[in-house]
Amino acid sequence: MTSKSPRFPVGLNKLQPKAAVARPTSELLRPQRPLQEAARDAARRSAPSGLGLDSPAVRERMVARLRADGLRCDPVLQAFASVPRHRFVDSALATQAYEDTSLPIGLGQTISKPSVVARMLGLLFEGERAAAGGHLGRVLEIGTGCGYQTALLALISRHVLSIERLKPLHDKARENLGGWRPPGDVRLIYGDGRLGHAPLAPYDSIVAAAGGEDIPAAWLDQLAEGGRLVAPMHDPAAGGQVLVVVDRRPEGLRRQVHDAVHFVPLKSGTA
Ligand code: SAH
Repeated sequence: MTSKSPRFPVGLNKLQPKAAVARPTSELLRPQRPLQEAARDAARRSAPSGLGLDSPAVRERMVARLRADGLRCDPVLQAFASVPRHRFVDSALATQAYEDTSLPIGLGQTISKPSVVARMLGLLFEGERAAAGGHLGRVLEIGTGCGYQTALLALISRHVLSIERLKPLHDKARENLGGWRPPGDVRLIYGDGRLGHAPLAPYDSIVAAAGGEDIPAAWLDQLAEGGRLVAPMHDPAAGGQVLVVVDRRPEGLRRQVHDAVHFVPLKSGTA
């Protein structure tokens, strides 16, 4: 979140849009930098509809689209309705935050488009434990990025442990989520998510936002019985990435292949 005031998650219905910033005129001071910043700020605050981006109605429209696309999971829809996506992206991109599009978050990484995040969270909810408990339980997220999906997860689980391998993004997510007290416990870790995080295993739900050639063995080892993993993975048969779902059943692992997707690569080590 690049915006500094007010901080997320102020009660969203309490947010007041600032007074409209006056349009710069030719008489105003040069150089133009402060004016450009003011204009950018004004743009950030008003969606194409004219609604302020902090208005819950803007997010509700996105939620209505997700519902119309077939997402039936109420807790996930409610989480999308509560988390202000525009506060997790650069202010210059904020007006696009509620379109169904992925957006750059720096260092060549992207925040996934809402429909794909919704699909993954919806699939996680259909896991045996999540379906029984009505929440995702203890979650391992690989690829914190800007922290948007972490915020969604925090609203629909008990504990979230999220790992990011790029220090500047780990720091950005920490800043974006700083001061927020979600119902679930959230821990952000800087490290190589391919290794998972054994000290807090097993996890009821594991979700990755980056795809490799395989599903790392550590993730499967750290998946609880009745738990579900959802991750992108390269599938030679499909000629590209697909969404893979793995369930740990008493009789062993059950794997299903779902939609074709396009995620950033899962890399080793940290940077
Ligand atoms: N869910 C994120 C999307 C971030 S994009 C969001 O809402 O912003 C995927 C992220 O995975 C990138 O930030 C990338 O750096 C990270 N990543 C890739 N390989 C990783 C690994 N081995 N361990 C941890 N993070 C990794």
